[in-house]
Amino acid sequence: MPEWLRRFLLIDLIQGMLVTFRTQHPKYINTEQYPEERPRVAERYRGAPRLNINPENGETLCIACDLCAIACPENLIVVGSVRNPETRRKELTTFTYDLSRCMFCGLCEDACPVDALELTQDFELASFTREGQIWDRQMLEEGPRPSPYR
Ligand code: SF4
Ligand code: SF4
Repeated sequence: MPEWLRRFLLIDLIQGMLVTFRTQHPKYINTEQYPEERPRVAERYRGAPRLNINPENGETLCIACDLCAIACPENLIVVGSVRNPETRRKELTTFTYDLSRCMFCGLCEDACPVDALELTQDFELASFTREGQIWDRQMLEEGPRPSPYR
């Protein structure tokens, strides 16, 4: 068929529309029905950080060694601590983690000697403000606050 006739009869358009309509059948639809259906993330996916607590006594596993903060190439972790004069051990007071600068490389998690810091499979990290991306110790231990305006 000559090119001009092909263009005149809109053959390419019709062929394209045929492809489109052929894939309208529900069996071809791959849209995930999020949030009703939760997508499965890869086993090794690294998402929201969590500061683990000891399930037996409810105390943090973090020993405030600062190794995660030193390992982080973005310097986004800030660990606050005080030294207990009786035990001579450092005790965690504050912990902040700026998610907006995190590249989820996992170096902080690897550096932690007591598995206190963990990057979980939770991928819902959106917030309306930059401040909402800075997770404090409570958020890291209990999960992000439910408010949509954080
Ligand atoms: S995952 Fe990487 S960038 Fe994010 S806090 Fe840990 S070390 Fe830093
Ligand atoms: S490396 Fe682990 S134990 Fe040390 S300050 Fe970070 S989270 Fe706490």
